[in-house]
Amino acid sequence: MKNSKIFDNNFYSTYYYSNIISNILTGDPDTIGFLSNFRENVGSSIFLPYQKESALHSFCRSVISDFLHEDMTAYDEEDWKLCKINSYFKFRPYIDNAFSVFGLNWSFDEFLEGKSNHEFSDLEEYYEEVLITGYFEEVVNRIADEVFYVIFNNRGLMNDFNELVAGNLDLYRNDNEDSDLDVSSLFTSKGTLKRAHIPQWAKNAVFHRDKGQCTFCLKEISGVLTPNSKRHYDHMVPLAEGGLNDVSNLQLLCGTCNQTKGRTRTPPSLKYIKWY
Ligand SMILES: [Zn+2]
Repeated sequence: MKNSKIFDNNFYSTYYYSNIISNILTGDPDTIGFLSNFRENVGSSIFLPYQKESALHSFCRSVISDFLHEDMTAYDEEDWKLCKINSYFKFRPYIDNAFSVFGLNWSFDEFLEGKSNHEFSDLEEYYEEVLITGYFEEVVNRIADEVFYVIFNNRGLMNDFNELVAGNLDLYRNDNEDSDLDVSSLFTSKGTLKRAHIPQWAKNAVFHRDKGQCTFCLKEISGVLTPNSKRHYDHMVPLAEGGLNDVSNLQLLCGTCNQTKGRTRTPPSLKYIKWY
């Protein structure tokens, strides 16, 4: 039986895109346009509680899509010119490489078969085909899954993402006034999100990421070594402060630390255990 939790991870440009996402989330002013694109792309669906395609997934996809598009256009134009000058330089579109890494059989060479004169307009046609067929989107989704796998471990970055959304909750709502999706029932009268039930898959993900330990005091609360180990799945950015019901906003805390933190905006712990 196929296990949906197992996937081939190629780590294709993972750190490149992770770094871009980190720069955006830590306030690089050059990246402000990517945030407004994200707001437009995500729609009111960002407020739906605990979707496996989390708010962070949507953010990764939006950013990766924008960057891949930019890179594709910029590099391909340059490389095309170089090929015209140096006939020994074989042209290969930027996205073609990604296709082959992910085993998506849709190369530019195949597209050109049967065409006699290879012109830049062929490449433009290829772009259009790639977008229409959904191959571009497929590559974006694959890269986003790989990026999510890496950055989910970074609690500081998860907090930055949720802080950023929390600080602009009204913008996210206003940007989507025309949306068919009515999310008003998800909000309290104060304009923050109501508490939603945390599904088991989200708890499992956070439990394993945080290794069954309180992220603040590192107390073992896995239930393996000690029977009295109540686990708290705490919202890093509290709901009352604009936090989302999203797996990216959760962290594992013990009872004592959870009580001390209460509903305050305490930064997440940066304590990790070395591999050896
Ligand atoms: Zn603790």
